[in-house]
Amino acid sequence: MAGNTPTIGVLALQGDVAEHEAVLRELGATTIQVRNASDLDGLDGLVLPGGESSVMDKLLRICGLRDPLREGIRAGLPVLGTCAGLILLAENIEGAISGQETLGGLDVTVARNAFGSQVVSHEATIAVEGIEGPPLDVLFIRAPVVTRVGPGVRVIATLEDGSVVGVATETLLGVAFHPEVSGDNRLHKMFLHDMVRSRVSPPARR
Ligand code: GLN
Repeated sequence: MAGNTPTIGVLALQGDVAEHEAVLRELGATTIQVRNASDLDGLDGLVLPGGESSVMDKLLRICGLRDPLREGIRAGLPVLGTCAGLILLAENIEGAISGQETLGGLDVTVARNAFGSQVVSHEATIAVEGIEGPPLDVLFIRAPVVTRVGPGVRVIATLEDGSVVGVATETLLGVAFHPEVSGDNRLHKMFLHDMVRSRVSPPARR
């Protein structure tokens, strides 16, 4: 953290890297594209963007990022995972390809491609717990849903049919949708405020 400016890494193996960086910068963060383990040094938080989770899993191993990321998550690095990023954070997945693993840390099970292969993408308007004002307009792209929520994990967003599409712990925020393409920065703002700043801010001096 330089001054009051958090440094947020965006995993840059595939997905909406530039879009996440743009939202984070708009909110005053410094961003770094993460491609290898040394890029994790000094981060105050990390975004795992959407993409294809099985490919990202393979790339994480090839780049030597999987184990350092697992350690970072367990040590309390704040992480926002969107879509495939949520899948990477989940402890368990349904519909994984053979050998696919996750980083884990978030005690949930997610079902990949839960809206069926026909429904490639759709928009929705959903309320997210902790976000004030009107509901968020968001995009689902071959999205997962959360099918099991472990103890200590809060459900923060559901669809009208009850499907869980947003979950959080003190340091991890996982959503099944893409908040980075809607022009609404409130989810990233919540991540920076509730997870990153509350963790890195020094205690008030008297
Ligand atoms: N269906 C993808 C997966 O399983 C996720 C899609 C996305 O991130 N938009 O990894």
